[in-house]
Amino acid sequence: MNINKFFTKFNSCPLCNSKKRSIARYSHKHRYAEQISRILNIDLNTLIKKIRNVKCNNCGLIYKSLWFKKKLYKSLFNKYVPVHPKGWDSGNRLNRFSKKNLKKAINLLINSIKSNNLENRGFAKRDAFSIVDSIQANSNLEKKLKKNYLVAIINENISHIEKNQFKMVHSLNIPERFKRFSNFSDEKLFYHIQKYIGKIKYYGEVGCPLWGMLQIAKNNGSKTIFISGDESIFWGKKCQVKKKYCCSEIDKSTKFIKKGINSCKGKKLDFLGIFVYLDHTTQPLKLLKKAFSVANNVGIILAETKNPGFPGVSIQHFSGWNNKTMSYVAKKFNKKLNYNFKDIKVSGYNFFLLYQPPPDVDVHL
Ligand SMILES: [Zn+2]
Ligand SMILES: [Zn+2]
Repeated sequence: MNINKFFTKFNSCPLCNSKKRSIARYSHKHRYAEQISRILNIDLNTLIKKIRNVKCNNCGLIYKSLWFKKKLYKSLFNKYVPVHPKGWDSGNRLNRFSKKNLKKAINLLINSIKSNNLENRGFAKRDAFSIVDSIQANSNLEKKLKKNYLVAIINENISHIEKNQFKMVHSLNIPERFKRFSNFSDEKLFYHIQKYIGKIKYYGEVGCPLWGMLQIAKNNGSKTIFISGDESIFWGKKCQVKKKYCCSEIDKSTKFIKKGINSCKGKKLDFLGIFVYLDHTTQPLKLLKKAFSVANNVGIILAETKNPGFPGVSIQHFSGWNNKTMSYVAKKFNKKLNYNFKDIKVSGYNFFLLYQPPPDVDVHL
């Protein structure tokens, strides 16, 4: 089989157009890589080596020198993985974060290990891990309990998992900030943004309506707008759980732009959030131009490219962004750049605020 038919070449940087680049590290072999290798029926190692990450010598953007053809990438979000699981877990919508469900997840993992069932092992581990990882640990004792339990799940240490299961279940309280059941719905992040740009009268987000700060903006008196993501690069129309579409979860008073950001006209927004979305597009410059044409200030969340757990850029992300790349963007669009919001880093993400300080706000840097 000629696997080249699946891919398109990128010979220059999609942000600054420079052709000078160096080889960056391979994508890691996590579950999406496995899933894509199964969908395309390409051996995982071959796939990882094919879809290379390269780093632009000029702006520092990491991008794929070979990338999925448009139709294929689109089918990932509309056919193969139509539901955005992290979106639905935000705000604990499906009630997965509960003592009862953690008990169930731990039992599934124990049974899987004891019966040597390799088929559900990956799922059982991820399921238990995601819940335990989201438990807010306060005291040093709780932190130690949680950390050791996560290690035991990874290593399938059955005696530790069994011995400490009741303590672990008992310690479950509220979901930790920025982890799976909270994601980017965070008041402190909202206040951080307002500290730099002033009161947000009109707040917008593009991409997923479930995992951001639309409700928080509403609670703080902002008018809100949600803009659908481009269905060829993101979840959307098919994103459905228990017969409910994610867009049906949008608050009635939030304006919903179904046709996407390109249908938006005029600079109306004080703030536009682009959360884990910019790294899906092969035309980031076009998206940024459009974003700054509708909003004075743009907040961008992207995966950390130096995350010790998963270093480099994932296979399902076209690009990876660091401070240098964002400085390039800030300069290009004549904006100030702030990336000192540390709290989000526990989840392996960075927050970049590209903004124009309002004349009446005194910003201390
Ligand atoms: Zn570049
Ligand atoms: Zn969705």
